[in-house]
Amino acid sequence: MGRTGFLGAVLTVCAGLAFAVFAAETTTLGAGHSASVERKSVYVGRSVEGRRIVAVRVGETAPFRVLVVGSIHGAETAGQAVVRRLRELRPPAGTELWTVRTVNPDGVAAGTRQNARGVDLNRNFPAAWRRQGRPFSPFYSGPRQLSEPESRAVRRLVRKLRPDVTIWYHQALRVVDLGSGGDPEIVRAYARRVGLRAGRIGFLTGVATRWQNDRFPGTSAFVVELGAGTLSNRQIARHANAALRVRAATGPAANARASAHSPPPIVRHRIPFGPERKQQMRRYARRHYGIDGYRLLDPRVIVLHLSVSTSAESVFQAFARNVPDPELGELPGLCAHYVVDSNGRIFELVSRISRSHVWHRYYQL
Ligand SMILES: [Zn+2]
Repeated sequence: MGRTGFLGAVLTVCAGLAFAVFAAETTTLGAGHSASVERKSVYVGRSVEGRRIVAVRVGETAPFRVLVVGSIHGAETAGQAVVRRLRELRPPAGTELWTVRTVNPDGVAAGTRQNARGVDLNRNFPAAWRRQGRPFSPFYSGPRQLSEPESRAVRRLVRKLRPDVTIWYHQALRVVDLGSGGDPEIVRAYARRVGLRAGRIGFLTGVATRWQNDRFPGTSAFVVELGAGTLSNRQIARHANAALRVRAATGPAANARASAHSPPPIVRHRIPFGPERKQQMRRYARRHYGIDGYRLLDPRVIVLHLSVSTSAESVFQAFARNVPDPELGELPGLCAHYVVDSNGRIFELVSRISRSHVWHRYYQL
């Protein structure tokens, strides 16, 4: 094992820890490929039924890391063909490519969306996690966040790799998701390259992409919802090409955002704002101001909530639960547009065109 680099660091970090020990092997693609591409396999963990979850690095180490996950829902496996293709291609200079065929090998073997315990792994991550469903119901969250070995394996991998961009393949909504906090320019560039729409899937609890985007600011994880069925060879090539080119979208625009004069980054971490809450907001506006509607059309005051802890999560949870506020006992229970944690990270809880409860009070003052 001549080239260690990142892997050497992994082995050092993991030594002595109770969880899965990262083992590695280096292989080189054989003849039949025009140029040999180095591949390095890293053992990430095991599924409930003991199947191995493996990450494969393709090509050289580089400063910009891209992670591509072929499937997390076992009944949505079209993206695995993109992973297979990526393992045959040489990434462009400067991009370090990591691939995982599936993080849900039991689900893939059984043809189920969920893992072997009936958990929807993409509702099991610690980002606005909420208990919902029962084993093998479509969106079963698991009994607690990170209850499943597969989601814990993903957490280990992401913590070690810290990918700059992570792509998660799903089916079959035919959209590249702008809604879980990834850099919209990267998402839009990917969508353009593959000919899919960039749009918002909507707020979902416990999803891997939101966990990554919240937990590792400055990195982007996003969902690619492919169509139904399998991909054509041409589609596979387009997706593989788009995955290899995500770094291009982080060029001048991303640098401009990082400059001292641009506004601070804001992490979208939206509380659920469904029909019920909208109705409550509408009633509130009617009651207090005689306005019919829940939208905030001309904001002049923005309400910030400063969190005393390093995590904004407890504040998020309090607002997301939507219980009546202790002071006036009114609904909806939201009382801020933004939460700022003690590290100065800013989270946006509601769209800037939704009213918030306290906003009205400030406005009246
Ligand atoms: Zn899915």
